[in-house]
Amino acid sequence: MLVSLVIPVLNESENLTALWSRLRDVTSGLSDIEFEAVFVDDGSTDDTPGSIRCLPVDGNLQWVLVQLSRNFGHQAAITAGMQHASGDAIVFLDADLQDPPELIVDFLEHFRQGYDVVYGVRKNRKEPLWLRFCFASFYRLFNAISERPIPLDAGDFGLMSRRVAKLIAQMPERDRLIRGMRSWVGFKQIGIPYDRPGRYAGTSRYSVARRIEGALDGLFGYSKVPIRLSLFLGIVVCLVAGAYLATTLVGQFVFGGETVRGWTSLLVLAFMLGGANLVATAIVGEYVSRVYFQAKHRPLYIVAETGRSPAVDAATRPAVDAPRTCL
Ligand code: UDP
Ligand code: MG
Repeated sequence: MLVSLVIPVLNESENLTALWSRLRDVTSGLSDIEFEAVFVDDGSTDDTPGSIRCLPVDGNLQWVLVQLSRNFGHQAAITAGMQHASGDAIVFLDADLQDPPELIVDFLEHFRQGYDVVYGVRKNRKEPLWLRFCFASFYRLFNAISERPIPLDAGDFGLMSRRVAKLIAQMPERDRLIRGMRSWVGFKQIGIPYDRPGRYAGTSRYSVARRIEGALDGLFGYSKVPIRLSLFLGIVVCLVAGAYLATTLVGQFVFGGETVRGWTSLLVLAFMLGGANLVATAIVGEYVSRVYFQAKHRPLYIVAETGRSPAVDAATRPAVDAPRTCL
């Protein structure tokens, strides 16, 4: 059996040695399985690709390097990894050791028992409190409004059978939230709880702006609820206006009241209507822009170069790598 380990990397050279040694420890204990680590370099500006080419290869753990032409984002990098992986099962993990490689053993055990998808469920997280609050709110909101809920506290760390990975890799959509797509495809799935440590070295490669962008992609890409919200908001505003008109008319003609007041209420109403209009237009705009970018049919990522560890090269394919001196 061949198992692929898909690892997206963006400026992770300081984590690679520790990651590789943990991976070697795990894989050497599973000597009946062949492993290929598929590193997807997502436009690193440090020496990440060079460090990967120098990783020492032995026994049952080889590496494959897929170098993207620039930074296309974490989810695009995972997709690239899926498309370049040739394993019977594909494991996804981050390079910063926040996804403990030791769990691969459990993942494979469940895979052998017939599960198509095995994913890690974070029992606790080491991120700052405000970020944990944002994550918790996002996933609860996502589940409340999406067509298909995703398990709470599950990230991309996990295993997919070849058929599930290939299915997801072939989905042409641009708004890719792999954990959402993984839940959508179905098949036999199971979550395994684990403690999520902090990063081994460096800081998160996600800025706050990119996290917000990802959250909006998730919410608008997987739900019709926001667009219905604008319809609902429009109806509510019309009903409020109708009720206001009715009470004014009744006050004037039934009770003979004086109605030339209400400068404030007029202004409030005008602002409310303007605001509701803007919200509704923005929601429509979110969907229209997604349709626009999807309609361009641009590829999700561009591969600049690929390489394989020398042992595999020698037997099967010619080396694509430029010669390099490794220490
Ligand atoms: N990553 C990537 N492209 C990006 C951002 C991140 O390939 O645009 C990689 C990164 O190198 C790491 C993984 O994706 O291996 C997760 O990133 P990070 O640890 O920064 O995310 P966090 O754990 O903070 O959510
Ligand atoms: Mg991380």
